Order: sequence, then C-alpha cells, then structure tokens
Amino acid sequence: MSDHYVKVKVQLEQMKSSGEGVEKEEADMIEVLVASPEVLVASPPASVSPVPASCTPAAQREPPKTSVTCRNQSKSRRKLGKDEKNTGTKQDSVPALQGTIVASNANLGKPVNRKDHEQQTLQIKGTGKMLQGKTETNGNAVPIHLPEDNKVDPHNKEDANKVAKRRKPVTVDTFKAKTSLEALKLSIRQLKWKEFPVGRRSACDIYWHGVSFHDNDNIISGQVNKFPGMIEMLRKINLTRAVRTMQELFPEEYNFYPRSWILPEEYQLFSTQISLAKDGDVSQKPTFIIKPDGGSQGDGIYLIRDPGDLRVIAGSHTKQSVVQEYIHKPLLIDKLKFDIRLYVLVKSLEPLEIYIAKEGLSRFCTEPYQEPSQKNLSHVFMHLTNYSLNVQSGNFVHSDSLSSGSKRTFSSVLYRLASKGVDIKKVWSDIISLVIKTIIALVPELKVYYQADIPPGKPGPTCFQILGFDILLMKNLKPVLLEVNANPSMRIEHEQEVSPGVFEYVPSPVDEEVKVGVIRDTLRLMDPAQKKSLTSYPEHQQEELSGSPVRGAGEEGRVLPSMCLKQVFPKYTKQFSYLRTVERITALFLRFLGVKGNMRLGPTGFRTFIRNCKLSNSHFSMATVDILYIDVTRRWASMLPGSREAGMGLQAFVEAFFYLAQRRFKSLPLREQVVSLLEVCEAQLENQGRGDPGGALPEDSTSSTRRSVSCGRTQPVRTVHPHHMSTSTPGQALSAPQLCSPATPRRASSQDYRLHQRLRPTHKGNVEN
Ligand code: ADP
Repeated sequence: MSDHYVKVKVQLEQMKSSGEGVEKEEADMIEVLVASPEVLVASPPASVSPVPASCTPAAQREPPKTSVTCRNQSKSRRKLGKDEKNTGTKQDSVPALQGTIVASNANLGKPVNRKDHEQQTLQIKGTGKMLQGKTETNGNAVPIHLPEDNKVDPHNKEDANKVAKRRKPVTVDTFKAKTSLEALKLSIRQLKWKEFPVGRRSACDIYWHGVSFHDNDNIISGQVNKFPGMIEMLRKINLTRAVRTMQELFPEEYNFYPRSWILPEEYQLFSTQISLAKDGDVSQKPTFIIKPDGGSQGDGIYLIRDPGDLRVIAGSHTKQSVVQEYIHKPLLIDKLKFDIRLYVLVKSLEPLEIYIAKEGLSRFCTEPYQEPSQKNLSHVFMHLTNYSLNVQSGNFVHSDSLSSGSKRTFSSVLYRLASKGVDIKKVWSDIISLVIKTIIALVPELKVYYQADIPPGKPGPTCFQILGFDILLMKNLKPVLLEVNANPSMRIEHEQEVSPGVFEYVPSPVDEEVKVGVIRDTLRLMDPAQKKSLTSYPEHQQEELSGSPVRGAGEEGRVLPSMCLKQVFPKYTKQFSYLRTVERITALFLRFLGVKGNMRLGPTGFRTFIRNCKLSNSHFSMATVDILYIDVTRRWASMLPGSREAGMGLQAFVEAFFYLAQRRFKSLPLREQVVSLLEVCEAQLENQGRGDPGGALPEDSTSSTRRSVSCGRTQPVRTVHPHHMSTSTPGQALSAPQLCSPATPRRASSQDYRLHQRLRPTHKGNVEN
C-alpha cells in the first residue's frame, strides 16, 4: 500500500469519524436540507433531499497499484484517461492495459494474452489481491433480506440476523463488467454477496455488463444492468430527436436542452435560421458547438461562430453530428467552467422507476473561462469540461480532498454555492426535474427496443441501468442537459506518473467515494429477495424500506450506510405524469406491432391501426392512409440511413400520429390535439376490447367533447406558439391527390419556434463568476 494512499485514507477516515473539515460542514448543511423537505421548489413541488456529505464511505481495502511503462506517453495517457464516458464500442476495443503492464506483483513482465485479459485486469487493479486475501472486516453488514413469509420483522435486529444467515447470498456474474469491475467487487464484498468472476454454468441473480445488454446474449433469467437500445437512444442525434419531440409538445418544460440541429440533414435549416436571427438582431453573435454523433470524451468537438465554419468531411458532406447552441454564460467557480456528472438508476421501465444518486462529481476546466471569441474558440481546456481532455493539461489538479482539485464531489460545489447565498435546494430540485423529464423522453423508444429483445411471455431477464447525466449550470443557475451516458465510467482509480514514463494506477478517493456507493446501492435495490418481499408491504412503506439503511444482519451486526440513491419516480408521478403522452402513442404502436421481435410497423399494421381506431372516413380514405404511411416512412428512412429494417419506426409513427391529430382537432394547440386523438383511439380500442364494434365517434363530434375531457386530464396549457394552431385542414391536406409530407413543415415550424425560445433565466443568485 503506498504511503500516499494510506495518508489519504487515514485523513478521510479521521475527517469522517471526527466530523472535521468541509465534509462535516456539508453534512450539517445537508442534514438541515433533508430535514426540511417542504422548502423544496415548485417543480417538482414535493421534497427532494439534496446531497448528503457521505454518500458512501470510501471502501476499506488494499489500494490497487499498477505500474505501466508507456512507450508513447501521451497516447497512453489519452487511452487510459478515457474516463468519464466509455461508449460501448470504444470500451470494448480498448483492453485496459494491453501488453504494457510491467508490475502487478507476480505478473511482473509477463505478456498478456487476450484470453487471460479479464483476469489479468483483475490483478492489475489489485482485485486479485482482494479476492485471494482474507476477508476483511469492512465495517458493513450484509443487506436486509426481508423474509418472504413476512413473519420476521426486518426492523428487529435479531430477526434480520437470522434471515441473513438463513438466506443464500445473491449471486452476481461479473465476467463482463470491464472497467466497473473494481467498484463492483468492492460493492459485492460490502454486501457479502457472491461474485462469479468468470461466469457460472447455472443462472446468476444479477449480470453486470460493462457495455451493453448484448454483452452476453444467453441470459434467460435474472437481472441485467443494461437495457437493450440504451446505447442507441443516447447517441447525440437520437437523444436530440427524443427531446425535440417532447419540446414540440411541451416547449416550456423541455427548455433545459440547448437548441440543436442534426447534421447534415438540417444544415440548410440551421444556416437559414442563424442568418435570420442575425438579420433581426445584429448584436447577436451566437456560438455553436459541434458534436459528432457517436463521439465521447470531447473527441471531435469544436466551436464555431458561423455556419460557414462547419468542417466539411468527404466533399460536401458533413459528418453525422449535432450542432448546438453554446451556453456562453456558464456558472464559474474560481473563474473555471465546470459540469456535473450525476448518476441515475433506471430501475425499471414498466412501471417507471427512477433513482438519483445524492452525490455526484464536478469536473473542472483547467484554463480560466472567457466568453467565446474568435481568438479563444480552440481553447479546449477553457470550454470543454471533459476529464479525459483536462487531465492532459499541465494545470490539472489531482486532489486527495473531495472538495478541491479538478474533480470534486458535487456536494462540495453545492456547499460552496450555499456559502455564497445560492438557493441550492432550488438548484437540486431543478436538476431532478431535468432528469425525470429526460428519462420520460427516452422511455417510449426504449420500450420498443425492450419488447423487440424481450417479448412479453418469452423467458428473459429484466433490466436496470445506471446512467451518467452531464449537466451544466448556467450563470443564472439554470441546469442545462449536455448529454446522457449509457456507460458512465465507474473507474475508481486514476493514472499517475511516478517517474518519467512510468505510470501507476492509484486510487482516486473522490471517484471511490461516489461510484462505489452508486453501484452498491443499485445492487441493494436490485436484491431479488428484497424486491419480492417489498411488494407485500404497503406502497408508502416500500420506498421507506428500500431506501432505508440496510440493517444489521451481518456477523458484526453493523450496518451499511444509508442509501445514496433516492427514488424520484414514481415518487413525483403527480408532477410529471402529464408529460407521458408519447408513451401512450407508443402503447398503440406496440399493440399494432405485435410481439414478433421487430421494431417497425408494416403498411398492414398501420392500416389496422387506422381501421381499429376508426380514423378513416369519407374525407380520409384508406388510399390516403397508404400515402401517409409511405410518405412518412420514406422520409424517416432517408434520415436514418443505417437502419436495415424496413417499415415505420416509432418516431415516424409519432410523426404520423401528430399529423392525424392536427388535421382532426385543428383548432387546438398541438399537445391537446395529440391528447384528444389519443383519447379517441384508446376509447375505440377499449370498446373493441369489450366487444362493442359500434363505438366509433363521429369525427366532428369528437373535437368539442374530447376537448373538455383532455383539458381535464392534462395540465393547463401554458404558452403554446400560434404556429401550432395553423395546421392544414383535412380538406386541404388530404383531398389533394399528392400528399405532401406533413412532417417537414411541422419540424421546420417547430424549429422556428425554438429559435425564439431562449433558455430563460429562472433564478438569480449571488454567484462568483
Ligand atoms: P462528449 O460526449 O464528447 O463528452 P459532450 O456533449 O459531453 O460530448 O460535450 C463535451 C463538453 O463540451 C461538455 O462536457 C461541456 O463542457 C461542453 N459542452 C457541450 N455542450 C455544450 C453546450 N451546449 N454549451 C456549452 N458547453 C457545452
């Protein structure tokens, strides 16, 4: 164990036990916040407890220590520094330390072959030591396993001890865990569960994948820590599309995502809109950030001030990317830009369950911030907060403290802001609201992927997933969503150069503090026994139990720390359920898609949908339905060139649905049009379910009747731009022999709308900048 690490560890432990220093003050502050939930903000109005000072104690263990000789130092750094985000493919293709490992105790100097790689990695990271060594007392007890017969009181320590002794440990297959392995091992050890590092012939309770659901395709039971389709959905273009659909329905609620355009398809639109905006206001000199679609860790990102500066790849074609309004007034601390990495657990899609880690990371730039100018556009250490980039700057500070340096805990930042008079409860509550809304935007498409991979009625695992939300605070404290990572790095060590060209992996206290807690508590929530037993408790007690400290069932009778994951959904269902409109459209889509494992609706399926929902009539013949199908499907196929499956995907279906809603309820704002049509469809299908074939409502009567119903169901309409009212009439659009695409004008006009939508200040604070 390095002296340095021991010192850090001792310091941390001392601070914790004596309650000294900043962490103690943070703890006090957070105690106050947790104790006064009613002060939390209007949206969501219910309580949200902010960050506790000690989400998790850093695990007690021998520090892993690895020396790496780097032939090419900067290359190696770059590779190993790929920290805060590991997209699946990249992670897959970059074995941890291929061939360059020189010091891992017994393995010193031995070549690493591919087959041995996973185990080798274990040793590299010191986990071999951990596995082989005697079981240390880690100060934690095994989790509570509520008795299935409920005859044992889980709050009774003796009973809980009995249960823990009686029960077989939960089994976790860690074979595919990749870079999360070390934090996972620590978590499993703290829980006293059983790890299967090279897999197991019989089924495990939990499978931990490092990249994707498909890391192992032979799982037919248990739980996998990845959802099918999550990587795809969180690519920059797809995330932008999903949020955009929500922005069309709920522009005010979804203004936390910067205006974005998808390239190359929207280049013209982008150019025109920017020129128009400049013509309207010559003082406007906006900056834009270009992000390659599949990029991560800042790769390929650059800033521009003029659409003409877009880099042209391969002739006139720009690479698939997102161009986004650059937030030029971020909140600064010590004159530095920083962002927030928050860990979010999607525990289940149906019913939707979301947890947020109360502790996160703040990653700082390493060059003082200046608003973008032509001169500083290329200063990545000033504008990009990526750890993987800034760690290469000479100014990067690796700190042993959780509240200083270039990577800190989010709670330490909140503490700093609170000391300057910022209303941090509002900040935290806005962040939670952003997270819930973002997940609501993603769920529809995720459900389609889920059903395709795990059709109802077929054997398969259930899924959960930890996501990494990257959030920027604007100077006015409004949180802005930058991106969501499907595979946030769970590494708990960082690389350090111990002598020229020789690098060591040393534990990173701040990463360990945050990440081990997130993994351990995710496991606790996924404990199959606890899940099963909880359902027999009344709902209000379920959350309390699942979120309560795991009680003393271990030999030492000690307890694990209280949960660092806080349930936010369904807890705040009331505030957010009105946003789940696209999910209702998705339910229709899935119904007509069937359960054969495909993700695209064929023309017959679309016709059946129209027929069963009684949406055709003399003004809207089945021939016109076919034209609509072809038109929308073609347009989406041209936008998604890589897709191999033919037919109408969910996004195209939503497009067609919006169009049908607009023409049928033309006098209403878009979201009411959509809700009204949904009610028509749902009522029709319900009637058919009851065997009432005559349940169709005459088209003209629905507008007024349904309108009042929908107003009752949805939230009061806030501001909806007038362009949503000016849709074409059924006569205009549908009696024309050639149906022009409904989607293009709708998209274009909603872009227009957003052009005038600024990310509005919601709160002012006395903040250093
Ligand atoms: P990557 O996946 O490559 O990390 P991000 O979308 O996270 O891509 O962007 C990288 C960094 O660029 C972010 O960490 C942030 O510092 C900065 N950034 C991204 N989008 C914006 C934006 N719209 N305004 C200001 N800064 C941004």
